[in-house]
Amino acid sequence: MRSHLCGEINETLDGKHVTLCGWVDRRRDLGGLIFIGLRDNAGIVQVVVDPDSAAFVDAERLRNEYCVRIKGIVRMRPESQWNESMATGKIELVAEEVELLNASAPIPLLMTDEDGEEVRLRYRYLDLRRPRMQHNMRIRSKLNQAIHKHLDGHGFSEFETPILTKATPEGARDYLVPSRVHAGQFFALPQSPQLFKQLLMMAGMDRYYQIARCFRDEDLRADRQPEFTQLDMELSFVDESGVQDAAEKLVQAVFKDVLDVELPAVFPRMTWTDAMEEYGSDKPDLRYPMRLHSVDEHVSHLDFRVFSGPANNDEQRVAVLKVPGGAKFSRKNIDEYTAFVARYGARGLAWIKVNDAEAGIAGLQSPVAKFLDDKAWSGIAAQTGVETGDLLFFGAGDWLQTSTFMGHLLVRCAGDLELAAEGWAPLWVTDFPMFEWDEESGRYTAMHHPFTAPHSDSADELKANAATALSRGYDMVLNGAEIGGGSIRIHKPEMQQAVFELLGIGEEEAEAKFGFLLEALKYGCPPHGGIAFGLDRVAALMAGEGSIRDVIAFPKTTTAQCPLTDAPSPIGDKQLDELHIGVVTKK
Ligand code: ASP
Repeated sequence: MRSHLCGEINETLDGKHVTLCGWVDRRRDLGGLIFIGLRDNAGIVQVVVDPDSAAFVDAERLRNEYCVRIKGIVRMRPESQWNESMATGKIELVAEEVELLNASAPIPLLMTDEDGEEVRLRYRYLDLRRPRMQHNMRIRSKLNQAIHKHLDGHGFSEFETPILTKATPEGARDYLVPSRVHAGQFFALPQSPQLFKQLLMMAGMDRYYQIARCFRDEDLRADRQPEFTQLDMELSFVDESGVQDAAEKLVQAVFKDVLDVELPAVFPRMTWTDAMEEYGSDKPDLRYPMRLHSVDEHVSHLDFRVFSGPANNDEQRVAVLKVPGGAKFSRKNIDEYTAFVARYGARGLAWIKVNDAEAGIAGLQSPVAKFLDDKAWSGIAAQTGVETGDLLFFGAGDWLQTSTFMGHLLVRCAGDLELAAEGWAPLWVTDFPMFEWDEESGRYTAMHHPFTAPHSDSADELKANAATALSRGYDMVLNGAEIGGGSIRIHKPEMQQAVFELLGIGEEEAEAKFGFLLEALKYGCPPHGGIAFGLDRVAALMAGEGSIRDVIAFPKTTTAQCPLTDAPSPIGDKQLDELHIGVVTKK
């Protein structure tokens, strides 16, 4: 039907006849001349319809989003009308024939970034026509192709794993599917292919990958989706560096392929403890020129208990964040930051404005300056490298909680002051704690998942030191986002049993839920490990989008619904009967 794509038409086609198909992006009547922006997946081209042309009557009838086929001659625009920001900006198409392929009802959205998300998702097929969304979806497609190309060339095989399966514990609620054949029994949709990929290693498949859909029924936070896509990988006979090297090479190749970006040859490594200590986050954004400084040694001698208390307690800390140029913050700004950190449990946020760095304590403006002495201030000033015009925020208290709220503050201030350097800053965060203590249930939970190996090879040692045990887990972080996470796995049944025990999963429960895994571990399981990347997040980063919903063709809303198809929706009694389900509707 067409000779070219709209976005392909440029000055090299000057004087040529072309036939294009697409949608009317907009139509303007200018004193007899009609201008049409004709849009397809490759871009937009300007079409001019002359009043004398046979196409004029047809062009007059066109409205936005009408689907048309236009024949015409490419001609250079006068230089004064060149639009350098458009690939097609130096030319226009002089229409000779306009054929209406299909009219459109009036468009229920603006087709701009102004449209609200509900209406965008309701009419997703229209929203996706926009150049921004076309670009995003194509980035995603290129990303998938680049992954296949790289992994196919590096000894990986792609295997599918079941969607109708048994629960895999990744820490979320399962989506369940009732069995018609087995009354009262349910499949779970996979939260990840974790156990199957481990079984594939036990099956001798050596290197596996899959672009896999995962399902987690969580109370949705802004950036979660009930179904999302992982690039899932698993390798046999590897330690941490084996997985990390393979993952780094993949990410480097994919960024080169899709964005023509060279990532560093080796990504920096940072332990979880250092990441929390220096950035207050397990996903530090290395583009920010800011760190947390531990100033315990400078304030431990003070009478000021707010600082000296935590400074003298091994489980607490006093952390300082220097905000370059922050002395210009108003009282209102500071109050906002204080309210912000309160969300993460901070009971207060001390601050010091440095009005004159040369003048020592006399040059400071702060409610806490009077509690400092010269020794304390000179130590803090030297450590933080403070200059006139800077502001210091102080957080004090429990090590993890203080680190965490100061880390959020760091990200917030760096964002507000637009301090991020250009480019890409990947790193590995390693040596996570093996367990987290859950106050509510009074037991340990796995920080990664229950199949992650501890550093210790001995089950007894692990049991004796569970609170401080470190895992062989690692996350890949890019520009402050966790894009991938994985671990070396437990490959011995005794260790797997010990971990289940520590997690409060009794023998019977372990047998019922993971009996197949424990059994498989008995038959010469190879040492193995892997990683899974959140592909939606990677695609969003590549496309420069803040929300993963903008790189998913048909995402759910934040309340886990699809406004387009109206799912989830009630089903009829007959179907419910077949599934042996009775529905009780809460009044
Ligand atoms: N299955 C894990 C997850 O979804 C990733 C892994 O350990 O490979 O987070």
